[in-house]
Amino acid sequence: MERLQKVLAHAGVASRRKSEDLILAGRVSVNGIKITELGTKVNANDLIEVDGVPIYKEEPKYILLYKPKNVISAVSDDKGREVVTDYIHLVNERIYPIGRLDYDTTGLLLLTNDGEFANLLMHPKYQIDKVYVAKVEGIPTMESIKKLTQGVVIDGKQTTPARVSILQQNKNQNTSVIELTIHEGWNHQVKKMFEAIGHPVTKLKREKFGFLDLGKMNPGDWRELTAFEVNKLT
Ligand code: URA
Repeated sequence: MERLQKVLAHAGVASRRKSEDLILAGRVSVNGIKITELGTKVNANDLIEVDGVPIYKEEPKYILLYKPKNVISAVSDDKGREVVTDYIHLVNERIYPIGRLDYDTTGLLLLTNDGEFANLLMHPKYQIDKVYVAKVEGIPTMESIKKLTQGVVIDGKQTTPARVSILQQNKNQNTSVIELTIHEGWNHQVKKMFEAIGHPVTKLKREKFGFLDLGKMNPGDWRELTAFEVNKLT
């Protein structure tokens, strides 16, 4: 922990004396809260801003996480449930998930602190294939599968045609495992698409995001993307 005016001075914002003036003038905030006390102590993880501008430019980070089940795709949760950033240790940057996987969905999730990169990947015109494997109730007929490949209407909007492969059909259990490739990222899209054809999803995993896959990772594992992968995505 360091005194705020010392951290400001070290970051090159102003001299120690001038930094004190900035604090007293109410121009400095820590984690979004205005600080006017000179003795305030801060640590390396705190976001310190002067006039709303962060004093350090963070190094961009790009992380691929194998999201486990029952984890929220967010940086905090007011109900105290586990969040995806709880898994990313030794990264001090303020990373956040690019899009979301549902609480009960597992699989590939990207996180970053690079807003431009996140916006680009989320933009609808940027059509990145996302591959999901869904366990569903029942054995869909070829007719219903065809509906997915042609696009179904969910929430009043037509999905673009999906690629579909049937991986397993278990007649005894009356369940199927189906791979679905889509490129939009609407809320609960895969679950709603299967709901629309009358086969609710009981288990869902995202296997791929563009050319990225989970390789030999296990739930909870994460790694940084390589510079090559980052460039290839954008
Ligand atoms: N579609 C869903 O329904 N849920 C997810 O988590 C991702 C895609």
